Amino acid sequence: NQALSEDPTNKKTFYSFEYFPPRTEQGIENLLDRIERMGSTNPLWVDVTWNAGGSTSDITIDLCAHIQNFSGLDVLMHITCTYMTREKIVTSLDRAKELGIRNLLALRGDPPRGSNDWIPIENGFNYAIDLVKFIKETYGDYFCIGVAGYPEVHLTAQSRDHDIQSLKEKVDAGADFIITQLFYDNQIFLEWVRDCRQAGIECQIIPGILPILGYDRFSRTINFCKTKVPQEILDNLQIIKNDDADVRKYGVAFGVQQCQELIDNGIRFLHFYTMNLEAAVIKIIEGLKILDNQKSLPFKKPSCRQSEEVR
Ligand code: FAD
Repeated sequence: NQALSEDPTNKKTFYSFEYFPPRTEQGIENLLDRIERMGSTNPLWVDVTWNAGGSTSDITIDLCAHIQNFSGLDVLMHITCTYMTREKIVTSLDRAKELGIRNLLALRGDPPRGSNDWIPIENGFNYAIDLVKFIKETYGDYFCIGVAGYPEVHLTAQSRDHDIQSLKEKVDAGADFIITQLFYDNQIFLEWVRDCRQAGIECQIIPGILPILGYDRFSRTINFCKTKVPQEILDNLQIIKNDDADVRKYGVAFGVQQCQELIDNGIRFLHFYTMNLEAAVIKIIEGLKILDNQKSLPFKKPSCRQSEEVR
């Protein structure tokens, strides 16, 4: 939380890395190796996503605790409140607290794949703000809380203004910072930040950056999230779309350009959606020349098979 507070004399750019929990033991081992390597670049934190509905919640909690305990890295645990009973949320939060996790990204979550509508469950929470309020009421200031923001407006929002107002309400309810949905058009993000500020949102707003990792993956993501992509990027990708190596190279070059423009506009925090991959994110950070001094982590990683903590 302290690192997120404004210090106008500090011009350093900070970055964080987001991962999702793998479903196999081997996947978890591979991810821990990757986090160990990427963690040596001194990210501000690493975070682990939460499967809406909580079907893999134990893996998320255990991974977060494991990373924190064995690497010394700060960890941000995502937690959603859709399709989860209040009891399940309390159990998860209690467990996170017991394991020493201090940072949460409080989210509503999406409906399960295949259904478009989200149906609130009895005695559950309706929106992320309900979760933020509940965490504050129950745990006081124990957790530092982040929430999600949408520069291109959440797909189900009543309007852009209403979406920004809902975001302000989450902050007023106790959220300490905001991480945004991915975007590829910096102007949209910068204008949205300006409007958030005008609406009275004062906390850090951290842009979510998803590098272009491959043509098919990129196309799927922008279709799913309905992300607006500048025509120039679409045209450039159209030419090289059949050459994976060229697309990856372009993705890194564009990532550097996008992040540099954000930094030039005063942005000091970058949040990378890594998709559990390493190369592109590290190359972008190197390209920006913001790579922190490599440090050797006190990463005491026991084999997952022997570890009780990671299932
Ligand atoms: P909310 O803030 O509740 O907003 C949802 C919608 O409801 C918006 O349209 C908002 O305008 C509207 N709204 C809010 N409050 C009210 C109100 N009081 N009345 C009427 N309308 C209201 N999903 C996962 O399943 N797991 C993850 O780990 C995960 N991580 C994410 C990380 C980031 C950085 C982001 C940006 C998204 C992430 N998501 C994740 C996706 C997220 O769960 C979905 O986008 C979800 O649809 C909205 O979550 P939210 O917390 O923004 O919801």
